[in-house]
Parts: sequence; C-alpha cells; structure tokens
Amino acid sequence: MTGEGILVFSEDDDLAFELLTLARQLSSQTGYWTGAIILGDNGSRVAEFTEYGADKIFVVSEVDPRKDGPDVTAEAVSQVVSNASPKVVLIAATKMGREVAAYVAQSLRTGCASECLDISLKDSQVEVKRLVLGGGFLARQIFESYPAVVTIPPHRFQASPSKGEGSVKSVKVTVERKMSKLESRTVEKSGVKLEDAEIVVAVGRGLKRKDDLKLVEEFAKVLGAELGCTRPVSGDLKWLPEDRHIGLSGKRVKPKLYVAVGVSGQIQHVVGMRDSKIVVCINTDPNAPMHREADYSIVGDLYKFLPALINAIKRIKGKV
Ligand SMILES: Cc1cc2nc3c(=O)[nH]c(=O)nc-3n(C[C@H](O)[C@H](O)[C@H](O)COP(=O)(O)OP(=O)(O)OC[C@H]3O[C@@H](n4cnc5c(N)ncnc54)[C@H](O)[C@@H]3O)c2cc1C
Repeated sequence: MTGEGILVFSEDDDLAFELLTLARQLSSQTGYWTGAIILGDNGSRVAEFTEYGADKIFVVSEVDPRKDGPDVTAEAVSQVVSNASPKVVLIAATKMGREVAAYVAQSLRTGCASECLDISLKDSQVEVKRLVLGGGFLARQIFESYPAVVTIPPHRFQASPSKGEGSVKSVKVTVERKMSKLESRTVEKSGVKLEDAEIVVAVGRGLKRKDDLKLVEEFAKVLGAELGCTRPVSGDLKWLPEDRHIGLSGKRVKPKLYVAVGVSGQIQHVVGMRDSKIVVCINTDPNAPMHREADYSIVGDLYKFLPALINAIKRIKGKV
C-alpha cells in the first residue's frame, strides 16, 4: 500500500535539503505530503528540515550512517519507508545512497530508477528521465510498482527554504548489526568544488607524464580556472585526486568556459560537461569526438599550443 507522499533520505543533510526542495515542487503540483528521514539524531535537526519543507519528519535515533554501514542504514530506511507508505522515495545518489536505494527497493519488492535527471507525477504515475546506454540516450521511464524509489545526483537541484508542517514521529527500528562491517580507506581529495567553477580546464590522457601536469596547472592558473580531468587520469594513473574527475561516474560541471586538453571526448566524459557554455578543445586528432562538442577547436599538440597560449594570456593580462 502506498499513500500520497514524497519521502526523502540522504546521509548528508545538505543533499536532503536539495531533495526536499524537489519534493516541495512536486507536492505543489499534486498536493502530496513531503517527508524526510533523519537518522542518528534525537530531534535536534528537525527545525532545519522543517525550514526546507518537510511536512512529516521520521526520526530514528539508534542508527547513525556515520557509524553504521550502508546495510544497517538501508535496513533502517527500509523500515521507515514501510511505516510511512509514501508514493515516492527520493534518495541522493551518493555512494551510500545508491546502496540504500537498491536495498530499499529490493526489500520492498518495488522498482528503483537510479541517477534520474528529472521526475514528474502525472495521473498518479511517476515518470523519470535518466541517461541510459553510457549516457548516450535520454530515456523516459514510468514506474509500474510503488513506492517508486528514485536516486537523484547530488546538486542536480538547488536547495531553497520553504516551510513545511514539521510534524515529528520517532520510529523504532530493528537492525542486525553483525551484518555490517565498516572498513575505512583514505581517499585523496582536493576539496575543490568543480561543480561551482566558472572556468574549468580538463586534462586527459593526451598528457604524456605526470610531471607535465605543471604545464596544465600553469595554464589553469593564468586562466583563473579549476583543474579537472578524465577518469583515466585520476582513476587509473592516479595523477590527480578522484574528486577532480568529470563525467558519468564523476562530477557534473557547468562552467562558463570549459577547456578540454588532450581529452578524446568519450560519451562517459561528455555527459559530465555538456552543460558548459563555451567549450574549447585542444587535441592532435581532428577526428576526436571532443571536437564535435567544441565551440572552438584547436587541432594541435598541447605541448606546443599551451606554452604559446599561456604567454599570450600573460601578455594580455599584463597590458590590462
Ligand atoms: C562505466 C564507465 C564509466 C566511465 N566514466 C567516466 C567518467 O565519468 N569520466 C571520464 O572521463 N571517463 C569515464 N569513463 C572512461 C571513458 O570511456 C574514456 O575511456 C575516457 O574518458 C577517456 O579519457 P581520455 O580522453 O583522457 O583518454 P583517451 O581516450 O586516451 O584520449 C586521449 C586524447 O588525447 C589526444 N592527444 C594525445 N596526445 C596529444 C597531444 N600531445 N596534444 C593534444 N592532444 C593529444 C588523443 O588524440 C586522444 O583523443 C568511463 C568508462 C566506463 C566504462
């Protein structure tokens, strides 16, 4: 049985507020209630969740995603969802969120649509839009089983306060802690907010050596840009931290200017930068797919072109 509500969950409160804002928009069209799940808290965060639009707040004090593993968190979320009976469950597509969504959908024997770019409710049907086949196609999909479990990429929607009713319900859950074993590993992070950058220089495997990053870093510096990269540069070569990679499995950026340096332009990369306003491509191969995305194409060697461009920018800036 599902009711007429939209329930959101994220282990990251800021992302939960983004989802609540989306839930509010859907609720203004349908009249559905909006709700949020708060884990690991005795009610101290309720006021903020109300500010961001939650009509119903389900508080679970005994499970904390910061200490418990994704399976324990998912079991707790699943029990709250069963208890609340919403029509839609929105979950932020973080690493933990993806696991939680799959678990919740499986345990409730319902459908799960991941990484949705948009969601609408029409005639009590839930429809989502999501990229499929490696990001090459945009599919419209309609849920056949409910509640509809939907994951939304972080920062797809902007959080904006809009007061909800804020009625609070404490939920007791029963979880088996033995099933969860938390291991930690240190992931190198730059801490950069690529999503908010106005200028991004992205470097790909066209770079021959790690040492040559200095050239691209200098270029980014004179341009006032943040440095991003393709997945092989961070994931395989480990030349840059993982949080600098752009694309399907990385960050989505939308700068005013995007300069791709030695990037081939495979679809998995392009889906992360296609909302950029002006795109420049520097690539030796005239047939590289990245040129098709570009407003300005430079068919040339980055090792020859970048030093000349850096000098030119410095000259121009020096004159101003
Ligand atoms: C499930 C999945 C998810 C993925 N997710 C992502 C993702 O999120 N982000 C991502 O980036 N990739 C992702 N990938 C990998 C993606 O498919 C490509 O392999 C990757 O984007 C290619 O990286 P690249 O452009 O750096 O390297 P390459 O494809 O090797 O391209 C290097 C380019 O540099 C050019 N070049 C060489 N020398 C020079 C020079 N001297 N000057 C100028 N240009 C030069 C070459 O002509 C070539 O076009 C994913 C793959 C899979 C299967």
